[in-house]
Amino acid sequence: MSLTISQTVGARRSQQVLERLHTNPPNIWYDGKQIKDPASHPHFRNGVQSLAALYDFQWANPQCLYQSPTSGDKVSRTFMIPNTVEELKSVTAAMKMRADTNFGMMGRMPDYLNRAMAGYASGAAYLGQDDPRLGKNAKNYYEYLRENDLSMTHTLITPQANRAVGTAQQADPYLAARVKEETKDGLVIRGCRMLATLPIADEIMVFPSTLLKNVPEDAPYAFGFSIPTNTPGLKFLVRESFDYGHSHYDHPLSSRYEELDSVVMFDDVFVPWDRVMLYRDVDRCNSAYGRTGALAGMAHQVAVKNLAKTEFLVGLTSLLANSIGIESFQHIQEKLSEVWVNMETVRAFLRVAEEDAALDEYGMMRPSWDPLDACRNLYPRLYPRMVEILQQMGASGLVAMPTEADVRGPMAEEIRRYFQGARVEAHDRIPLFRLAWDTCLSAFASRQVLYERFFFGDPVRMAGALVASHDRTKYMDRVRAFLEKSKNDVN
Ligand SMILES: Cc1cc2nc3c(=O)[nH]c(=O)nc-3n(C[C@H](O)[C@H](O)[C@H](O)COP(=O)(O)OP(=O)(O)OC[C@H]3O[C@@H](n4cnc5c(N)ncnc54)[C@H](O)[C@@H]3O)c2cc1C
Repeated sequence: MSLTISQTVGARRSQQVLERLHTNPPNIWYDGKQIKDPASHPHFRNGVQSLAALYDFQWANPQCLYQSPTSGDKVSRTFMIPNTVEELKSVTAAMKMRADTNFGMMGRMPDYLNRAMAGYASGAAYLGQDDPRLGKNAKNYYEYLRENDLSMTHTLITPQANRAVGTAQQADPYLAARVKEETKDGLVIRGCRMLATLPIADEIMVFPSTLLKNVPEDAPYAFGFSIPTNTPGLKFLVRESFDYGHSHYDHPLSSRYEELDSVVMFDDVFVPWDRVMLYRDVDRCNSAYGRTGALAGMAHQVAVKNLAKTEFLVGLTSLLANSIGIESFQHIQEKLSEVWVNMETVRAFLRVAEEDAALDEYGMMRPSWDPLDACRNLYPRLYPRMVEILQQMGASGLVAMPTEADVRGPMAEEIRRYFQGARVEAHDRIPLFRLAWDTCLSAFASRQVLYERFFFGDPVRMAGALVASHDRTKYMDRVRAFLEKSKNDVN
C-alpha cells in the first residue's frame, strides 16, 4: 500500500485500467454475492468500459495530457495545479471534452476527485500547519495518483441512522467509521460511511464532509485519508444496478454510464500513516476543503459537467420538439428557451470563475469561488426542472416506445408506419424517444435527478453555507443609504 512513485506509468490507457481492476478488484458485494470481476459482470461491465474509455480518450486527444513536472511523463491534465489563467482554462477545456463524451452523465469521471486532490496538494501547507507530516503525505499522495493515473471514489457522509443528533451521539459509537486503534504504523478504522459513487475506482478518499461540521466530541471520527479500494477489511455494498443488461438501443444511457453507488464498511481497516492527511483536528477537518482549494477544484469540475449536461438537454429537447412538430407552440418555445437560458447561465458562471481566478496563498490559480458556489446552489433546482420539461414535451411518446426486439420483429412494418414523426422516420424517432426516456423517466434518469439534488451536499445546508460565508454588508448599506436619504426627501 505504500506510495511507490518510482514505478510510475504516467497517463494510463483503457487496457491498464481494466488489468488493474482485474488483478486488484475491490471487495464489492452486489445482490447478495461478492463480485470478483466487475469488468465481466453483466450489471457492471458497461460502466467499467465507459470509465476505461476515458483513458484512451485522453491519449487520442493530446490536450487532455500535460508533462509531469516531476517525471516528465505525459499525465492527465485533470491533475494539473494551474499557475496561470491559461493553464486553468486548459484544465477546463480538457474536462469539458471528456464530459461531452458522456453528456455529463458520469458525474464521477476521475476528473472530479483529481481536482480535489490537486487542491489538497496545492494547499498541503494548510493540512500540515500543526503536523508537517500530514501536508507532506498529501503532496506525496497526489503525486502518486498523478504519476500512476489512478481513479478515486470518496466517502464523506455518516450513515443515515439518526440525523437529529451528531456523529458521536449515535446509539452505536461504531456506526460511523471511527478510529478504533492508533498504532505506531497507522490507524485501524471500524464502522461505516455512506455513500461512495464509482466503487470500482482504484482508491477511496475517506474525508470529512464539506458541509456537515464536526464538533469537538467527534474527534475520533475526524480524519482524512486515502487507501486502495482493495484494502483488506474494506467492503462496498453496491445498490441495484440500473444497467439491466438491455441493449444500447433500448437503454442508451443506462447501458453505458451506470457508475453505481455503494455504502462503505470498514471492518478494522488498517490505514498506514503515510496515507493520513487530516487527523483528529476537528476545526481543520471542517475547513480543509475550503481552505486548500479542493472545494473550488471540485466545484470547477462540477460546473464543467453541468455545462456538458445542459448542452445535451438543449440538443435533446430541440430534436424532440422538431421530431413531432411541436416547436412552433409558444409554451414549447418557452420551455426550449428555459433550457437554453440555463445553459448560458452555467456557461457564464464557468467563464466568470475562470476570468476572475486569482493566485491563492499557495500559488495555485484558483477559480473564483462566488460564481462556482452560485452554480452549485442553483443546479440542483435547474436539473430536475429540465427533466420535467422533457416529460412535458415528450408526453405519451415517452412510454409509447417499442423495444429493439419489436423494431426488428414481426411487427416491424406496423411500427415503421405508426411511429413516424413530423420530420423523422420511425427508425430515427424511436431511438430519440428512447434517449429522452432514459434522461427523464427511467431508473437511471431518476437517479441522475437525485444525484444532482444531493451529490454535492444537502441543498438546504449548502444554502446555509452560502448565506453564512458571503458578506452582504455592502448591499445592505446601499439600501440603508437610500432609506436614510428618503427620510429627508420632500415630495
Ligand atoms: C446519487 C448520489 C450519489 C452520491 N455520491 C456520493 C459520493 O460519491 N461520496 C459521498 O461522500 N457522498 C455522496 N453522496 C452523498 C451526499 O453527499 C449526501 O446525499 C448529502 O450530503 C446529503 O446527506 P444525506 O444523503 O445523508 O441526507 P440527510 O443529511 O440524511 O438529509 C435527509 C433530509 O433531512 C434534511 N436534514 C437532515 N439534517 C438536517 C439539518 N441538520 N438541517 C436541515 N435539514 C436537515 C435534509 O435537508 C434532507 O431533506 C451521494 C448522494 C447521492 C444521492
